[in-house]
Amino acid sequence: MEKLNLDDYIRKVPDFPKKGVLFYDITSILAQPRAFRYCIDSMVELYQDRKIDAIAAIEARGFLFAAPFAAHVGIPLLLIRKKGKLPGKVMTKKYSLEYAEAEIEIHCDDVVQGSRVLLLDDLIATGGTLNAARELLTACGAQVPEIFGVVGLPFLNYEKVLNPTPVRTLINYH
Ligand code: 5GP
Repeated sequence: MEKLNLDDYIRKVPDFPKKGVLFYDITSILAQPRAFRYCIDSMVELYQDRKIDAIAAIEARGFLFAAPFAAHVGIPLLLIRKKGKLPGKVMTKKYSLEYAEAEIEIHCDDVVQGSRVLLLDDLIATGGTLNAARELLTACGAQVPEIFGVVGLPFLNYEKVLNPTPVRTLINYH
């Protein structure tokens, strides 16, 4: 696998979406095939021996990394979406954001009971979104043995929120 410094491919946008926030933009990874391929190859290397039965990803940017991984490895892809987007019978989970509440949903019928599901998002900040997604998956009967983010912001203490599930990332910012 080609080695590259992923930091060179992540656009940093100050004051987005609001003043004082530094936004780590992964669209610049998608626009550069070497970097996108590096991410997918790294995920395959990280998880090929961990007996993963399926991958679940969070709308919307999580989908972009989970889909090529699922197709490459040959495992089911489960979509976790914002409320009202999935057409079938859903399980819903409400959770708190910094200043508001949000709701995410999944088609529980697509979750195989007892299966080992890798849970993914593009970036892990507080871990609140992934924590809610993990609850959704376990309520549907899955196990969540691993959580993955392309980018991690460990100073926001997501490890504590997502404990005891091991969390792996390709790059961390401090
Ligand atoms: P958390 O729930 O961990 O606090 O927030 C993570 C969610 O917010 C992820 O779905 C992620 O896409 C989004 N997010 C928050 N900050 C950033 C950022 O700097 N860059 C990107 N790409 N996504 C972010």
